[in-house]
Amino acid sequence: MATGPEPSLRLTLEEFAAFLADVRRLGFTLLGPTLVQGDFVHREIAGVADLPRGVGMVQEAGTFRLVPRGDEALFGYPVGQPSWKPVFFPPERLLWTGRRTGRGWEIRLPPEDREPVALLGVRPCDLAALEVLDRIFLHGPYVDPYYQAQRNTALVVAVNCTVPGGTCFCASLGTGPRAAAGFDVALTEMLTGDGHWFLAEAGSDRGRRLLSELPGRPARPEEEAAASQALAQAAGHMGRSLKTAGLKEDLYARYEHRHWAEVAARCLTCGNCAMVCPTCFCHLVEDSLNLTGDRAERRRIQDVCFTVAHSYIHGGSVRSTPRARYRQWLTHKLATWQDQFGCLDCVGCGRCITWCPVGIDLTAEVTALRVPETPGPAGPEERHDQAGASAG
Ligand code: SF4
Ligand code: SF4
Repeated sequence: MATGPEPSLRLTLEEFAAFLADVRRLGFTLLGPTLVQGDFVHREIAGVADLPRGVGMVQEAGTFRLVPRGDEALFGYPVGQPSWKPVFFPPERLLWTGRRTGRGWEIRLPPEDREPVALLGVRPCDLAALEVLDRIFLHGPYVDPYYQAQRNTALVVAVNCTVPGGTCFCASLGTGPRAAAGFDVALTEMLTGDGHWFLAEAGSDRGRRLLSELPGRPARPEEEAAASQALAQAAGHMGRSLKTAGLKEDLYARYEHRHWAEVAARCLTCGNCAMVCPTCFCHLVEDSLNLTGDRAERRRIQDVCFTVAHSYIHGGSVRSTPRARYRQWLTHKLATWQDQFGCLDCVGCGRCITWCPVGIDLTAEVTALRVPETPGPAGPEERHDQAGASAG
């Protein structure tokens, strides 16, 4: 990746369409946001005509709805439910197959994914989420070759957010609404008096080469200023925020806070929050054998820490209550993760808030946990945990 400020390009809608055509001509499978049954889904697209047009999205805790914008914007909505995680960390992956031979077992590894994919519309928070996943799958002691192969071939076209959602809080975490790194090309969509255009910035040599082949002209200072202003306005209109100073220390100090039980009384332990989260990567590994005993396989399957089974260890679950499981999820993301990886495991996308069926709100729960407790009798879940059922 290149460093330093890049000269930006002004692309008309037609030039943006030419850019997408170039990406496909280079052999990339172009994945972009599409609308399927009232929600956004990342699928292969042929070009601009496949992108939703004039669609906005209202998000609040436990709810979202699509709304017409009354214009031609192609990216005029905040981050939707699907993240890009499944491209690199699919919900299920075959790890190996085994065949019994006369002398034992022959083990075969499946081929790595090397399909060149171009991701169109990666929001800044999702760029930050991919960086978090890179720490796990690329920069730790064990590299995941499947993740690595797909990551190396992917072209990333980011789209900055000029329309934040009601549950977004990336501005307070420094992960948006403008992409800082981790992209090949970053776009800011603008609808102004002089038309529908994009400010395009290169973030890598590959991105620079792509942009250099386009007919768009260099952006004028006033056009760059207009895009910067739109992004600054978006940062100022985020629906939520999270104060990160002292967050880890505060959560460690509130490990027995009564509010954990209050959240647990609402939490369905459905795991939606972890499933939509772009950084959660809990999984289980399943081995299976055919009936004749001569074929076996091992699969990695996405899991969530909200199930009792996820923390089952030699005869019991160490996090048997919803209180323990929610506490584990939240403190791992915002506190213990900092000790493990030196960063938060949250990028402020707000998905866990919007897609929680009962509207449990990470930012609001942290605010409540930061309020010092007044002494009182323990609730039933607290007594249960205090009896030694939870190590979460
Ligand atoms: S916090 Fe919400 S989404 Fe997460 S497990 Fe509980 S009910 Fe489900
Ligand atoms: S914890 Fe919630 S807000 Fe943070 S990255 Fe995950 S889904 Fe987004």
